Amino acid sequence: MQHNRRQFLRLAAGFAFSYGLNTRLSLGQEKKATRVILLGTKGGPRVGASGRSNPSTLILINEVPYVVDCGYGTSRQLLAAGMSLDRLRYIFITHHHSDHTIEYGTLFYNAWVTGLPTRIDAYGPTGLEMMTRDFFSFMKDDIDVRIKDEGRPDPHELISAHDINKPGVVLENAQVKVSAGLVRHPMVRQAYAYRFDTKDRSVVVSGDTTYAPELAKLAEGADVLVHEVMYLPGIETLVRRLPNASRLREHLLAAHTVPEDVGRIAAMAKVKTLVLSHFVPGDDPSITDEQWTEGVRKHFNGQIIVGRDLMEI
Ligand SMILES: [Zn+2]
Ligand SMILES: [Zn+2]
Repeated sequence: MQHNRRQFLRLAAGFAFSYGLNTRLSLGQEKKATRVILLGTKGGPRVGASGRSNPSTLILINEVPYVVDCGYGTSRQLLAAGMSLDRLRYIFITHHHSDHTIEYGTLFYNAWVTGLPTRIDAYGPTGLEMMTRDFFSFMKDDIDVRIKDEGRPDPHELISAHDINKPGVVLENAQVKVSAGLVRHPMVRQAYAYRFDTKDRSVVVSGDTTYAPELAKLAEGADVLVHEVMYLPGIETLVRRLPNASRLREHLLAAHTVPEDVGRIAAMAKVKTLVLSHFVPGDDPSITDEQWTEGVRKHFNGQIIVGRDLMEI
């Protein structure tokens, strides 16, 4: 329904544009209270020139940003999405793999030097509190100098990290309830998926996981499921050019989800829209959208979106 309306609006916009009319207003009106913007859609730690940035997803709830994962490039992608960094308020980390954490401290730092006025709350698996303290040690000399020399506020007061030790509700405020569910991502001990229930939408982000039926339970009836995906023939090409090929191949197969299984999870959960993201491999332009979705469609007949950086769902 919404999709049809959007298509209609796009057609109408094109029509109006060709007649020189200002269509911004009519397009703006379709904005939802809860918006999902993919910041980075490439799985894995390697920084490449693929056109996909490393993993991060932005959920905007009544204009308040909730950032899920902080892969390399998250600050830049937030800016590209039109989000000033001093507006940062909540960070969620799905698991302690660098493609989800490497810019965690830096993103906070960037928000601080942009003039962050209020505290950020950050949630993630056990270890996040320590990682936050360690980031402050890592940057100690710089931070001490900037406080004295430039009169900046003490950044220690501007972030509060919360270790999540077990699945369940991790945050609840007037706008949203956020629940964490354990997924399967060996050899990482604690990997979470997050579900955001707001007044107008339910959005689930899988984090990294192999086939995990318990994720379908967490995502039950959700409007949007953002799920990671791995394309096997692409893996074979990828590992062929690497020295640690056989071990890496083993890891990838045990830790990520093939399209058929992504389709199974989406069907089991009866979600409305499935968004593929965290593509593995994420830098092989020869893999077509059709190839990413073919296996998914065998099991899931809802809407399937092949995610791209800065795409809004
Ligand atoms: Zn990852
Ligand atoms: Zn991972």
